[in-house]
Amino acid sequence: MGQTAVSIGANVFQFFTRNPRGGAAKPVDKTDVASFLEYAKANGIGPILAHAPYTLNAAGSDARVREFAEMTMLDDLKRLELTPGALYNFHPGSHVGQGAEKGIELISSMLKRIFDAFGAEPSTTVLLETMAGKGSEVGRDFGEIREIIDRTGLPLGVCLDTCHVWDGGYDIAGDLDGVLGEFDRTIGLDRLKAVHANDSMNALGSRKDRHEKIGKGKIGLAAFERIVNHPKLKDLPFYLETPCDLQGYKEEIALLKGLVK
Ligand code: FE
Ligand code: FE
Ligand code: ZN
Repeated sequence: MGQTAVSIGANVFQFFTRNPRGGAAKPVDKTDVASFLEYAKANGIGPILAHAPYTLNAAGSDARVREFAEMTMLDDLKRLELTPGALYNFHPGSHVGQGAEKGIELISSMLKRIFDAFGAEPSTTVLLETMAGKGSEVGRDFGEIREIIDRTGLPLGVCLDTCHVWDGGYDIAGDLDGVLGEFDRTIGLDRLKAVHANDSMNALGSRKDRHEKIGKGKIGLAAFERIVNHPKLKDLPFYLETPCDLQGYKEEIALLKGLVK
C-alpha cells in the first residue's frame, strides 16, 4: 500500500482494516508491517487512515450487529498498535428506527466499553465520520457528533467528508467559512483530524451519499480550491474516496496539489 501510494504521488492513504462488507481480518504479517514502517519513514508517508468496515453499526437494533461492531473495533485498534499513530475512521452508525437519541446512547456506550477493554490509551486516534444523513444515519448533524464525544469523555476526533457534509446540508461550496465556524462552535476544530475529499453527484442537502470525481460534481472545483487552501484545513491529511482507478487518483492528486497557493 505504501509503494502504491508513493507511485501515484500520495503521501497519505486510507485502507480498509478487513473486507468492507465485514468478516475476519487477515492474520498480521509482521515482516510486512516492519517493511512498511521503514518504507513510510523513508518516503515521508504521513498518517495512515484505517477505515472500519461499512457493516460496523454501533447503533444497530440487533444485539449481534452491535456485538460485531464492538469486537471488530476492539480488534482493529489492537492491530493498529503495530503502526503507531494511525487514525481510525468509522461511521457512527444507523439507528434503524430507534431514534437518533437511542443511537447516540448506543454508540457512546460502545466506545466507552471498547476503550475500557483496550486498557491503556490506544496510540490510534479514533475518528467519527460526518455522515450524509442517508436513511437513519447518525452523525449528519454536527450536534449529534458533539453529543457522542461528550458522552464518552474520550479523546475522539472527527473526519470531515466533503461529500457527506454537502449532502447533509452544510454549504461548503457557498459558505465554507460559515460551515467551519459552525463546526468550531459545535464540535471544536481541534477535533478535526482528517478530510475525506469527494465531490458529490447530488445537490446540497440531498442526503444521498454518492461520491463524484473532484470538480465533476455539484461541489465543484472552485470550492475545492478554497478547501485545500483554507487555513483551518490546509495542514490536515486529505484522503480521496472518489470513483477512480489508480491512474484517476494520480490525476486527482496532481489536480488538488495544483490548486494549492
Ligand atoms: Fe466512510
Ligand atoms: Fe468518507
Ligand atoms: Zn460516502
